[in-house]
Amino acid sequence: MSLDSPIRYLKGVGEKRAAEFAKKNIYTVGDLLYFFPRSHEDRSKIKPIAECIEGETVCIKAKVYNLPIDRYVRRNMLISSMQVFDDSGMINLVWYNNKYVKNNFKEGEEYIFFGKITRGKQGRVQITAPVYEKAGNERFTGKIIPLYPLTHGLSQKVVQSTMELALKDAGELEEYIPEEIRNKYKIAEINFSMHNIHFPSDFESYNIARERFVFEELLILQLALNERKDKNKSNTGLIFDDVKCIREFTDTLPFELTGAQKRTINEICRDCRSGKQMNRLVQGDVGSGKTAVASSAIYMTVKNGYQAAMMAPTEILARQHYDSLNDMFKDTNINVILLTGSMKAKEKREALSDIVSGKADVVVGTHALIQDNVEFSDLGFVVADEQHRFGVEQRAKLLAKGKCPHMLIMSATPIPRTLALILYGDLDISIIDELPPGRKPVKTYSVTAEMRKRVYNFLAKNIRNGMQAYVVCPLVAETENSDLKNAEDLAEKLAVSYPDIKVGLMHGKMKPADKDSVMDGFSSGQIQLLVATTVIEVGVNVPNANIMAIENAERFGLSQLHQLRGRVGRGGSQAYCILITDSDNEITKKRMETMCISNDGFYISEQDLKLRGPGDFFGTRQHGLPEMKIANLFEDRNILKLSQQAAKSIIEKGIENYPELKKRCDALISTEIIMN
Ligand code: ADP
Ligand code: MG
Repeated sequence: MSLDSPIRYLKGVGEKRAAEFAKKNIYTVGDLLYFFPRSHEDRSKIKPIAECIEGETVCIKAKVYNLPIDRYVRRNMLISSMQVFDDSGMINLVWYNNKYVKNNFKEGEEYIFFGKITRGKQGRVQITAPVYEKAGNERFTGKIIPLYPLTHGLSQKVVQSTMELALKDAGELEEYIPEEIRNKYKIAEINFSMHNIHFPSDFESYNIARERFVFEELLILQLALNERKDKNKSNTGLIFDDVKCIREFTDTLPFELTGAQKRTINEICRDCRSGKQMNRLVQGDVGSGKTAVASSAIYMTVKNGYQAAMMAPTEILARQHYDSLNDMFKDTNINVILLTGSMKAKEKREALSDIVSGKADVVVGTHALIQDNVEFSDLGFVVADEQHRFGVEQRAKLLAKGKCPHMLIMSATPIPRTLALILYGDLDISIIDELPPGRKPVKTYSVTAEMRKRVYNFLAKNIRNGMQAYVVCPLVAETENSDLKNAEDLAEKLAVSYPDIKVGLMHGKMKPADKDSVMDGFSSGQIQLLVATTVIEVGVNVPNANIMAIENAERFGLSQLHQLRGRVGRGGSQAYCILITDSDNEITKKRMETMCISNDGFYISEQDLKLRGPGDFFGTRQHGLPEMKIANLFEDRNILKLSQQAAKSIIEKGIENYPELKKRCDALISTEIIMN
């Protein structure tokens, strides 16, 4: 039987079971083998009954003393209890509402039971609903048993026994991680690993097996990402003869650059005269001064005789950059123009002609920049402001508008180092981990819905004192089966409750022009309280807004909350962020606490990753990575580094020399929407 065989071919898997497996995306024997357990239970050692201690989970081997006796304690509550014994003693076994359990035992016969020892009402030790099977031909006890991430439909026993069968029927598996790599990084062989990930002979072997699959998963991921990378990237780049001129500009700034900004600018200058094309990512929290860095580089570009382009993901952001560049360059002869999709045909024509003639030194725009009709006279520097990632292809298109221009990518989403290494492995990274001095951190509180009234009164009080506020909701409008807050309802209610306050509404389903007019109203102060969805995450800058309340805060990723929170605290006054959540889930509590104690985007993103286990794809999906089957990007960062080295050496030799690995990469690319 091959790995590609449908699981229907396995004994015991009929149509119905196959359908249940399909719900877990398991169609073939190979899919099944790569369905990894979430944990294991040690059922390998048998303990004498007399030595069993309350609270421990044990295996016992015992004979039936009396068949289960049924007793109704309430109308809907049947308790069946059975006594079993071994040489050392006797113990009670209990089942609830299981009429048929007594049919499964014979008096005097010997069975293995597995379960947790508790103390019953009368003070007797017992095991409730143990796992059991007849002694002599054990399949589910006597060893370490895998437990799979199941919800409903399939039982552990069914998956365990199907897995056992699949392991046997699949026979010898073909190894596809090259031997030299396995030897170098001490990665276990596939057959050993596959058996021990499911049915380990001991926990040491399990760990060795797990490491192999983590390595494998991360290796294939990175090889796949590499396949997607821009292959046209050039090794040679423009040389900027005069990088010192950048000082002329930085000296005019009304503030002293932070150490992190200076370091980043130095790195950019070094790249720009190296003769190699710069591919640099600048990561820094909102407000850390990335735009100031990019502007400096743009100034230097123009002084060296080239054009610069800056691409932003939205019109609002593009216009903001346009305004702030114009402002910064107001005392120079640098000509900044705007190019967006919503511009009138005549304006656009003019802009296009200025770009091609070279009259425009700097072009700020949206995706409109990468349209075919945009031609530059001499593009030397490209800035991509990625609140969210642009696709690799979009970046490549922008680069193709010049002859090897340098590229700077700005990201305001601090991501954990491990993720950065995967996502931006081909880029050099500068991190601005220092905020300009004098910034007051946003005071953050987490409250329950009971406090809502007080929260809104607090907002109202501040608004009446001349400030502005945001409220963020997870939903746009009312939806069936959801008691999550929606922006439309809430805006309406708040307008009624606080008739003296001008409430505005903004969400992603609105037309761009309507959004713009709401945004203008909020910027000018006409709107005092803005109820919105996460659309405001992207580049809204209203320094007078100093409070943000976030409804159903548990629904957002930590990095997203941090991003949202970055909208306040841009002015001089103390800013507040109030997270409203009724979830008493432990992880949610920890996540909210993280937000309350930290304003550091890098720390928060690390915690975000840490608090989500593997398979919980929020943290990874958000960044365009597929869901991890086994790797935990936080815990497994050491293996990540090894797999990275391995990926590099495979890429250098050419992945086509490793057809089996390539096959797996291609499969990942075709089933997952990686990155783009
Ligand atoms: P980012 O693009 O990282 O969000 P910006 O470059 O837009 O940050 O900077 C945010 C604000 O801080 C701007 O008003 C900018 O003028 C100001 N700023 C930038 N760098 C400094 C600095 N070193 N000292 C003081 N203020 C700064
Ligand atoms: Mg910015």
